[in-house]
Amino acid sequence: MSDTGGRDDEREDAGTPATGAPEEAFARLGNRIRVAILEALHEEFGGGDRDGAPVRYTELREAVGIEDSGQFGYHLNQLLGEFVGKREHGYVLLSPGRELVHTIKSGAVAATAGSAAGETNAACYRCGAPVTVTYTGGYVVACCTECPGALGLDLVPDGALSSIPVPAGAVGDAVETAPRALLDRSHGRFCHRARMFGDGICPRCGGESTATIEVCDDHDGGEEPCSACGVTMPAVVRTTCRVCAEGGIAPGATVVSHRTPFREALAAAGVDRLGYDAFATMLRWPATVTDADGDPALRYDLPTVGGDVVVDGDLDIAVEAVADGQ
Ligand SMILES: [Zn+2]
Ligand SMILES: [Zn+2]
Ligand SMILES: [Zn+2]
Repeated sequence: MSDTGGRDDEREDAGTPATGAPEEAFARLGNRIRVAILEALHEEFGGGDRDGAPVRYTELREAVGIEDSGQFGYHLNQLLGEFVGKREHGYVLLSPGRELVHTIKSGAVAATAGSAAGETNAACYRCGAPVTVTYTGGYVVACCTECPGALGLDLVPDGALSSIPVPAGAVGDAVETAPRALLDRSHGRFCHRARMFGDGICPRCGGESTATIEVCDDHDGGEEPCSACGVTMPAVVRTTCRVCAEGGIAPGATVVSHRTPFREALAAAGVDRLGYDAFATMLRWPATVTDADGDPALRYDLPTVGGDVVVDGDLDIAVEAVADGQ
């Protein structure tokens, strides 16, 4: 919370000194009019970086639709310094204010309802049967219509092949109206984000992220999701942002799929954009747990290379041998 230029002056009218504490910032938003001011300012001032001219007081009040200038002014003052900046010719949306509007618009803080399953023409990466897509508890879930799937986690439906957090606004009514597009969009986003995490960059905030290979010590390795770790993969990559704590688990190949030889293997499979088919292609590549200098690593059997592509805990890739004919 810096770089809000002239913040102390702007604060004077607000009545309460700012400490920059998150609970104080959120408390300031506990009012419908204040949220409406931020949304109107986003609309009038623009959503990009530093674009748009400052919005005049009257213009802003009319955009929010509040007749009472005193009431409007009071709530506007509560936002000054932290979320809204005062300039010579009006008001601008500061970066934290813009971030909040984006969060509200994405539906990330809205209640999410479960949905019925939408049918798609996508194929299960385990058995080839048709895949359905549902939205439940804030997650887009792809499910196989025939096999036990790959995830046996709490709150995840039977037959789940993936479970990807997506804000409600980005889902809309797509489960009913465009299930295949939703499947591709959510898996495409997952794959892009995994690549960023693989490069040590948080896709949410741009902070530094870490990645570690997590191996299941009691993996049962059967057709059904493992009763110990809940997934069929013997190991996953756990990513975590050091700054905002965004993260989760990802199949190993997805965090290195933009790097040689994974990108060539994706291209050879006919995948040229990231969607469900890219995700499914990567999940079909056989992976086993191996050892790299005493630490767990993942060994991939890529059709373009052979079974000796090793991804270690630092996500360094070693191609140990090249298959015949290459
Ligand atoms: Zn299946
Ligand atoms: Zn396991
Ligand atoms: Zn982050």
